[in-house]
Amino acid sequence: MKGKHNFSAGPAILPREVIEEAANGVLNINNTGLSILEVSHRDKDFMAIMEEARTLVKELMGLGNEYQVLFLGGGASLQFAMVPCNLLIDGGTAAYVDTGVWAHKAIKEAKGIGNINIIASSEADKYSFIPKNYTIPADANYLHITSNNTIYGTQMHAFPNSPVPLVCDMSSDIFSRRVDFSKFSLIYAGAQKNMGAAGATMVVVKESILGKTGRKMFSMLDYQVHIKGESMYNTPPVFSVYVCLLTMKWLKKNGGLAWIEEINRRKAELMYSEIDRNSLFTGTVVKEDRSWMNATFLLTKPELETTFNTMWKEAGIVGLKGHRDVGGYRASMYNALTLEDVQALVDVMKELEKKNG
Ligand SMILES: *Cc1c(COP(=O)(O)O)cnc(C)c1O
Repeated sequence: MKGKHNFSAGPAILPREVIEEAANGVLNINNTGLSILEVSHRDKDFMAIMEEARTLVKELMGLGNEYQVLFLGGGASLQFAMVPCNLLIDGGTAAYVDTGVWAHKAIKEAKGIGNINIIASSEADKYSFIPKNYTIPADANYLHITSNNTIYGTQMHAFPNSPVPLVCDMSSDIFSRRVDFSKFSLIYAGAQKNMGAAGATMVVVKESILGKTGRKMFSMLDYQVHIKGESMYNTPPVFSVYVCLLTMKWLKKNGGLAWIEEINRRKAELMYSEIDRNSLFTGTVVKEDRSWMNATFLLTKPELETTFNTMWKEAGIVGLKGHRDVGGYRASMYNALTLEDVQALVDVMKELEKKNG
């Protein structure tokens, strides 16, 4: 992979040093002579990894002891069901904002559990913007939002002040910027976009919102069971948790969320200024809601598709193909992608214009 510019949407780029350290851990974890893949999760070496990972999440987010951190299996998609199972009171209603494919799937699952009120949606406009100025019903059990819409390339640059517990799917922009995380009662994120290897999903939950539904729960779907088990009720996705820990340590060592936010801002500015400047490209979403993580864009002359595809592939760029629902291109610029990687893509776009503009 060396020398590649990896714009994949997920699983996605990780810091090279994290991958190397993870590789070391596969061969020999903490000089035990054993692989991370072959030690018991009840072993002190893994217990320490889990504990440090849970602590670092709260440290990076600036959250206190009223929050619990879990690393669960099942992907972010399982959270689409776990959230309503744990928070939607029998006969109550949950509010959802529909901003894309993932939000839509979250709504679909929640509808299987109880009453759902879609209080805002951009579906009719192909999810090309983030709805704002909606009213949040004060009697909703919770409000569910999606901070970054990975497929459509929109992102919330401000969060609603919610009178009810705010739940957010942050799978594709977790730890990409400073956020007032204390606004949220529950945050979840699949590891494979911006914080680690596929397998684990991080859940951060304010304990006081749990245990109110009266619903009989399967143990594996019950946050309280996982909290009690300190995220080891069953065997956790050990390797994925380990890579999450390494990525968080990399973030912390370099300056935390303030540091990565500045880099991500510069990457997004470089990317979008070229999309706007270059006559051969056009963005697909309204400017104020553009995602810093996933930039979606189209060719203004579709006949240049083959030429452009050949050029970026020759430049060592991978993962640029757009999602089938949007078409065109999607440049995912997660934390580990550098400004130089974005510059490599911008150079190819400029070159295309020079030859064909
Ligand atoms: C990728 C993604 C998901 C789904 O994640 P899985 O881990 O594959 O279940 C959910 N929400 C968002 C915002 C995503 O980007």
